[in-house]
Amino acid sequence: KKIIIAIDGYSSTGKSTIAKRLAKALDYVYVDTGAMYRAVTLFALKEGFFGEKVDDASSLIEHLPNIQLKFVRDAKLGTCDMYLNDENVEKDIRTLTVARKVSQVAAIKEVREKLVHLQQQMGIEKGIVMDGRDIGTVVFPDAELKIFMTASPETRATRRYKELLDRGDKVTYEEVLKNIEKRDLIDSTRSVSPLRRANDAIEFDNSDMGLEEQFERIFSFAQR
Ligand code: C5P
Repeated sequence: KKIIIAIDGYSSTGKSTIAKRLAKALDYVYVDTGAMYRAVTLFALKEGFFGEKVDDASSLIEHLPNIQLKFVRDAKLGTCDMYLNDENVEKDIRTLTVARKVSQVAAIKEVREKLVHLQQQMGIEKGIVMDGRDIGTVVFPDAELKIFMTASPETRATRRYKELLDRGDKVTYEEVLKNIEKRDLIDSTRSVSPLRRANDAIEFDNSDMGLEEQFERIFSFAQR
């Protein structure tokens, strides 16, 4: 029987790596909800609603109906790219510029309402692994398996720093660590659906765990 697997946790805890592998092994659909919040943030930045000087949530809220999001999967390549109004933005949403604004955008009630609704629709057919911050608490409170991933801030910053460097971004480790800590603070203290562990979620600290071991353990939970 196919189930819904919710994977929540702080930034750069390796949620997406594990979620992707799990989905592949189970032949489930993988959904990266962070990509959706990032895409809305990119839209807001492009339109000039959220920049260095302006923080215009009301303009963004007004334009929410003009934001069309979709995931395009390529089974052959094994990729899943985020499209914003029919444009592939997979690369553009992963920059530190977007990361610096995303938690602020994700704290807007209307933004969350729109995205949570889309996410719930994706789960109508079970057999889904979704990663984010509020999947086990808000999007799918009845998910059959909930994992709450944690890791030390340094472990997480090192991982994200490597990722950004590999992509050719010119960032420093300190900038990345600062961004992660700041996002965690905003995500866990915002008034709408703050990041927290669902009561029935399994807490999973992977600071000192290799990918194989993480996968094996979580895969075994999914088969119970
Ligand atoms: O997972 P990722 O780091 O790409 O998420 C980017 C940001 O999007 C998070 O820091 C958080 O502010 C927001 N987010 C959220 N709820 C989700 C997924 C992401 O608020 N379900």
